[in-house]
Amino acid sequence: MMVAAAGALCRAPAVAAMCYLRAACRHGRRPGRGVNAKGAAVAVVLGEQLARYGFPCGHPFGTDRHAAFQREFEQRGLARQVTLLEPRIASEAELELFHAPEHVRFVQERSQCGTGSLDAGDTPAFRGVYEAAACVVGSSLAATRWILEAPRRRAFVPIGGLHHARREQAAGFCVFNDCGVVVEYLRREHDLRRIAYVDIDAHHGDGVFYAFEDDPELIFADVHESGHSLYPGTGAASETGRGAATGTKLNVPLPAGAGDEQFDAVWPAVLAHVERYAPEFFLLQCGADSMAGDPITHLQFSGACHARAARELCALADRLGHGRVLACGGGGYDRGNLARAWSAVVESLLTA
Ligand SMILES: [Zn+2]
Repeated sequence: MMVAAAGALCRAPAVAAMCYLRAACRHGRRPGRGVNAKGAAVAVVLGEQLARYGFPCGHPFGTDRHAAFQREFEQRGLARQVTLLEPRIASEAELELFHAPEHVRFVQERSQCGTGSLDAGDTPAFRGVYEAAACVVGSSLAATRWILEAPRRRAFVPIGGLHHARREQAAGFCVFNDCGVVVEYLRREHDLRRIAYVDIDAHHGDGVFYAFEDDPELIFADVHESGHSLYPGTGAASETGRGAATGTKLNVPLPAGAGDEQFDAVWPAVLAHVERYAPEFFLLQCGADSMAGDPITHLQFSGACHARAARELCALADRLGHGRVLACGGGGYDRGNLARAWSAVVESLLTA
């Protein structure tokens, strides 16, 4: 399986692996100004419970990523401008909107013993990993619910965007796939049909892509480093969906070393692809591991790409009349990079 293929490129210390991959006010609703000059409101989920999602022993996806973002977010004065939402733990029923019950049980069991791996080696178990992973899902669901309460709302979940987890298994630092759960939640609880998933993380969002490969109403667009040089090895341009969904999926692999110029050249096609289907909700996975200097990937984006993606998706969502955008942090293993990219995304949500 893919784990062998990308092992050399994204290797977690102490676990031979392939890679993989994953905020200020503690408990409470410290409402910020909440609404920007154009009438859009923005929320950010932050809190100690969410920060617990991370792996020990020098793993690149450590629990310090949340604090790295939170510091930059506060230094830029963004905490005063948004509504802060508390993390919460998703229920089993919520997890099973997307995941197989057997996978949920498996994670519960491993969480109690706290040893071993949840996949082929990239994603180690630790005591409490179930609650930590379920909290990422619960946080993305809380942000989604908040968005749906009123028009023109956007939100950001810093540790969300765990796009490698499959319905039946963990993969690439991702225990549960919060994006997949959000899609199923929107369908089943809110009857939203056409949902756009846009991913600019360096890694292909395989956990989302293959879960909805034959679903014509999940509009997928993913700019990533080519599978020839990076985990998970998938996401070729020829993968456009199956059956009735053929053409609804756009994969844009870029060569190792591609930077802002290449991103700017392909981004208009991404935007045009999703606009064609007039989605009722936008999910943006804005992994910061596509930035220059990431220790386990090879793209060279600057934070300007992340800011542009968020800004232009918000503008599109507004043109479509609903304004709904949920941005999730995704990967990013250089702490300075993730802090800058994610803060830039929040600024875009506020100003777009
Ligand atoms: Zn990634």
